[in-house]
Amino acid sequence: MRYVDLTHVINNQLPVYPGDPQVKVSEVATLAHDGYTEHSLHIGSHAGTHVDVPAHMIKDGKTLEQIPVDAFIGHGRLIRVNDCEFNLKDVQAAGIEPGDIVLFYTGLSGQFNEPEYFEKAPALPEDIAEYLVEQKVKMVGMDLASPDYEPYAVHKILLGGGTLIAENLCNLEQLEGKEFKIYALPIKLAVDGAPARVVAEISE
Ligand SMILES: [Zn+2]
Repeated sequence: MRYVDLTHVINNQLPVYPGDPQVKVSEVATLAHDGYTEHSLHIGSHAGTHVDVPAHMIKDGKTLEQIPVDAFIGHGRLIRVNDCEFNLKDVQAAGIEPGDIVLFYTGLSGQFNEPEYFEKAPALPEDIAEYLVEQKVKMVGMDLASPDYEPYAVHKILLGGGTLIAENLCNLEQLEGKEFKIYALPIKLAVDGAPARVVAEISE
């Protein structure tokens, strides 16, 4: 077994979605002064690598703590998105099975610090989102800030259909051609989503 960390580092420089709160990690105790270190965290529930759950976009949708932990763990499938063009045929050919966690690899995580990453990235077409829900995929992840833009039709199709979303993944190139399992475990906040440590377990 080998593990690949698909998670961005959280610090005060973390780029956030336009309009979202800036992350603030501040020291509240120091070794020199208090004999221990501690920090306070000020962070949006959708900052950095994170998981969206239905309450994010769906009225009366489930919040994180209501979702069983097995919803965050599953057999992974990587789908390469060439030239930022999502293609339904590629998704249909990927041999997706119910309960899978499907990851779209666009290669754009390298632009995480650029404004284009948040403003100009490609959106997942609605027919692909519908197909993934029909296949009973547990979670859809991507190396993008969001699968779509306002009015968030794709978010609503996925979350309304019970498929969770993992956003701002990185290091997906390390999964090409591999068999792997995904652990995308968000902090157990009783809200609409939370930062997650997302890890792939590669079987070799
Ligand atoms: Zn989100």
